[in-house]
Amino acid sequence: MSDAAAKRYDVAVIGAGMAGMAAALFAAERGLSCIQIGSGGGILFASGLLDLLAVQPVAQHRLWQSPFEALAALAREQPAHPLAQVDPLAIRTAFQRFVAALTSAGMPYAQMGEHNSNVITSIGTVKTSYGVPLTMVAGVAALAQRLPCLLVDFRGLREFSARQIVETLAQEWPTLRHQRIEFPGFEAVPEVYAVHLARALENRETRERTIALIKPLLGDARVVGLAALLGLSRSSEVHAAFEAGLGVPVFEIPTMPTSVPGLRLLGALEAVMSARGVTRRQLSSVRSLNFDGDTATLDLVGAPGGERIRAGAVVLATGRFSGRGLTADRQSVRESILGLPVQQPLAREDWHQRDFLDPTGHAINRAGLLTDEAWRPLDASGKPAWANLFAIGSILAEQDWMRAKCGSGLAIATAWAAVEQITQQLHKAG
Ligand SMILES: Cc1cc2nc3c(=O)[nH]c(=O)nc-3n(C[C@H](O)[C@H](O)[C@H](O)COP(=O)(O)OP(=O)(O)OC[C@H]3O[C@@H](n4cnc5c(N)ncnc54)[C@H](O)[C@@H]3O)c2cc1C
Repeated sequence: MSDAAAKRYDVAVIGAGMAGMAAALFAAERGLSCIQIGSGGGILFASGLLDLLAVQPVAQHRLWQSPFEALAALAREQPAHPLAQVDPLAIRTAFQRFVAALTSAGMPYAQMGEHNSNVITSIGTVKTSYGVPLTMVAGVAALAQRLPCLLVDFRGLREFSARQIVETLAQEWPTLRHQRIEFPGFEAVPEVYAVHLARALENRETRERTIALIKPLLGDARVVGLAALLGLSRSSEVHAAFEAGLGVPVFEIPTMPTSVPGLRLLGALEAVMSARGVTRRQLSSVRSLNFDGDTATLDLVGAPGGERIRAGAVVLATGRFSGRGLTADRQSVRESILGLPVQQPLAREDWHQRDFLDPTGHAINRAGLLTDEAWRPLDASGKPAWANLFAIGSILAEQDWMRAKCGSGLAIATAWAAVEQITQQLHKAG
């Protein structure tokens, strides 16, 4: 690693999950030079739905139809939660910018207003979320109005059963029915996968043959639902072709991870990074990070011979355990790169509740970094560890994003707020 050759960026973002992507996007849009290190994070497993905040308080599982009323309740009841630290107006703007970027990369979302939407899941339960991909949006009205609806699945597709959804919802949605068809060209294949079918539907002839098989099954259906497999990178085009061919609104239902919408989201965000001029190191990870005045030095492993880079500010968006931002041994939880203090239960036996499904959740799922109001992680004395180190997303303490249904909200909102601080700091420094 040559010291002299180390390139300097305004911002280095460590992490390429939802939080790292949002931070790199917002930094690039503010004209900052940005490098991002890390691979796709939890995005591949995401449903494509962008949760802002649906449940507060978690222990009572109170479900909110307005995420902004939920944020107000969060600010009253749990002011230390990182989402409660961000101005709701800024959260709106951040979501709009994030979604505009996805739309520009071929993954459009429905207009986001004041309310969450209810979306059917692949097991027939209902998920409450804020940002809904356009390919899924017809399902929101169909569910709300209990419209006569046909769900279609494909023989051999194990990850999605239309019949199971209909059986689960039968009582409350009597006009919901299902049909199973063969996927054209895959008749001899015993098991098929959503990602293969999604790619196949980008071929016009396959698409037309599939539509021709579904059309005679429509009956009185005023809307048709399928697993989320209407195209991989060209989902808008495939979805529009299905609606035109069937003559009714068509919606996708998110499938189990790894999902096609997760792949689309990752593809769209990668395209956004490239369009905004973000330098990326997807195959590298940060081995060490050192600070000297206004300059951070990052040593990367992954590239042959390693690589050294410098940055005016560093964003730590390394996630929790699955992202590898936190690691745990038998005694305690540690922050993986710098060994920053992690807020966590005092003893290991307090990590989990006795009951796995305890409604209050497990304390280990609220472990993470504490920051000051400028999103700088604190050292053991309670002061910012470094002036130009910022932490965002799921590595933050005082939140259980999975139970609160605020994964993307936490990532996008804290990325926006931290990038605002970084921009001010870099401008002050000239
Ligand atoms: C199964 C599943 C389903 C989900 N469904 C939804 C959903 O329906 N709606 C929703 O809003 N959200 C959903 N999410 C959540 C969302 O996608 C994000 O995973 C979550 O918000 C956490 O994002 P993050 O960026 O903080 O961390 P992560 O996604 O964990 O990303 C951490 C990143 O840090 C990188 N990293 C770690 N250490 C290093 C290092 N030393 N050097 C370089 N890089 C490093 C990793 O490679 C990774 O890129 C889901 C997540 C999962 C796992």
